[in-house]
Amino acid sequence: MKHNNISIFVTHVGCPHMCAFCNQHTITGNSEIPHAEDVQRICSKALEQITDPQETEIAFFGGSFTAVPREYMLELLQAASEFVGEGKFKGIRISTRPDYIDKSVLDILKECGVTSIELGAQSLCDEVLDANERGHSEKDVIDASLLIKSYGFELGLQMMVGLYKSSEDRELYTAKRIIDIEPKTVRIYPVVVLEGTKLAELFKKGEYKLMPFETVAALCAKMLKMFYGAGIDVIKLGLHSSELVEKSIVAGYYHPAFSEIVQSRLFLEAIKSEITDNKENIIEIAVNRRSYSVAAGHKKSNINALKELGVDCRMITDDSLSRQEIKINGEIINVFKIT
Ligand code: SF4
Repeated sequence: MKHNNISIFVTHVGCPHMCAFCNQHTITGNSEIPHAEDVQRICSKALEQITDPQETEIAFFGGSFTAVPREYMLELLQAASEFVGEGKFKGIRISTRPDYIDKSVLDILKECGVTSIELGAQSLCDEVLDANERGHSEKDVIDASLLIKSYGFELGLQMMVGLYKSSEDRELYTAKRIIDIEPKTVRIYPVVVLEGTKLAELFKKGEYKLMPFETVAALCAKMLKMFYGAGIDVIKLGLHSSELVEKSIVAGYYHPAFSEIVQSRLFLEAIKSEITDNKENIIEIAVNRRSYSVAAGHKKSNINALKELGVDCRMITDDSLSRQEIKINGEIINVFKIT
């Protein structure tokens, strides 16, 4: 499903927490606080430019939206709600913390035209949540998620992979618990350790040892398949690129092509599973044009890996296939749903 946002960053304002990994001003690259007139200007301009506003949400990202002072939250929502409705945008999307969700705030959000709520869950493992000073528990995530769904909002959950005290098992546990909650969407953020955060201190002292990049990429590939297999849309994999972020990175898994690297692994896995008995053949692999570079792999890594297995492949494009499908010697396979 098509998913478009007009993103408005609310930064750190009003967030009473300081999670071990968070430096909101660095992540958004913008420490200015938007007001009603900014929301109106951004939305008016977007409405002129976007051809499919009914598939687009006005999205307040970057902080904990329901933790900002109530008056300010209402100012932004009221400005945005003027741009929602027939001939305008589909709705409003917000992101917040699980422990800042209750019935009274959900009543307000409903009335103001909010359609989707994303919760920063980060982990569903209490040891990891505690170690990273999140200030909420696994139970808080589950309770808030169920309440959001009971109001009819679209639920999104965000998880962070590779946090302090995390492990492969703990990440997979989180993915399974998220699947149990049945959100509509998931965002997967591999950890990026930013200057000025507690994680950076722990990393510099040697207390926080990160899993290798390859392990995290493989984990993300596994989880991507789990989520798609459960019918959950993964709408983001990796952090958005920005110069400011790159300059502030101390360690972690930031890579401008992170999502492609992970998806490429799944394409290679799918191809390999089809050619096991077929090594001598020259195979023809058809993919949607928009998936070509992911299927071929970063710097043609998949084509080279197949060559090392003694398989010469010819990759062609076929736009009758979806972006998740490949056709090998006439057979169509869904890359994200193979077992
Ligand atoms: S709750 Fe969100 S905005 Fe607040 S410190 Fe944690 S990550 Fe940053």
